[in-house]
Amino acid sequence: MPGSSGGQSVKSKTGRESLDGWVMAGELLFLGEDFSDSLCRYAFFQRYGGASQPPYASLNVSLSVGDHAEKVLENRNRIKERLGLASLLSSRQVHGDRVYCQRGALAEDLEVDGYDALMTNVSGIGLMIQHADCQPVLLYDPVVRAVAAVHCGWRGSVINILGRVVRQMQREYDSFPENIRALVGPSLGPCCAEFRQYTTELPEAFWAEKDENSHFNFWQITSKQLLSSGLLPAHLRISGICTLCSKAYFSYRRAAGTAQGITGRNAAVICLLGGRSVNT
Ligand SMILES: [Zn+2]
Repeated sequence: MPGSSGGQSVKSKTGRESLDGWVMAGELLFLGEDFSDSLCRYAFFQRYGGASQPPYASLNVSLSVGDHAEKVLENRNRIKERLGLASLLSSRQVHGDRVYCQRGALAEDLEVDGYDALMTNVSGIGLMIQHADCQPVLLYDPVVRAVAAVHCGWRGSVINILGRVVRQMQREYDSFPENIRALVGPSLGPCCAEFRQYTTELPEAFWAEKDENSHFNFWQITSKQLLSSGLLPAHLRISGICTLCSKAYFSYRRAAGTAQGITGRNAAVICLLGGRSVNT
């Protein structure tokens, strides 16, 4: 069922710190599940293991938050090495619902501008979402062999970017939604997602996911949107890790409460392996 992780998975709300501080989702979330077959690789990275200095220490992957570009590029290279990827596709995200579809090979890393979802059916390209409290949602259709990565903050939830991505996978790859697997990575949990202005910021349809303290369960909102798009409950997994509660992640809201007020962005990456590739 959505709202929890399956199999041998997350043991605590703060997540498991392993592999020298890197959280590899294949081990964290989906042991024994077919999402993690040998043809798809993915990971939700913690903030450790990078080259950046505070307040970006240390695995900040964003070029748009004031960190030194050479440090960010070094961090991105470490992620590629860790996952065995030839190239990374990312975007300067804007809390919109545009989807960037990569149809050919990428000789080098590419950062596009103004997209909050990335998709491809080309092997070897890591689709990378940059996040700090917003939900990184990774999608995989093992039948048509296509992947997507989505940056879904509360604004993305309001405009239902996830529904749009599923529809585009149907159009672009002839995906059937019932075949699509979805992983929701570390992000702001219902413990911390307080929205005092919810009557103006959030549609009434979301209010059912509010507790008495104006905290919203956006993981549940995401589950409902994906199920409404035709995904099966058995194919949804939610990490249950809150980026504000766990110090292992960059958190926008935690940083907002500090003197500096800035922080880095965590990486969530998904990639197709082998098979259909225009590189080979
Ligand atoms: Zn929390």
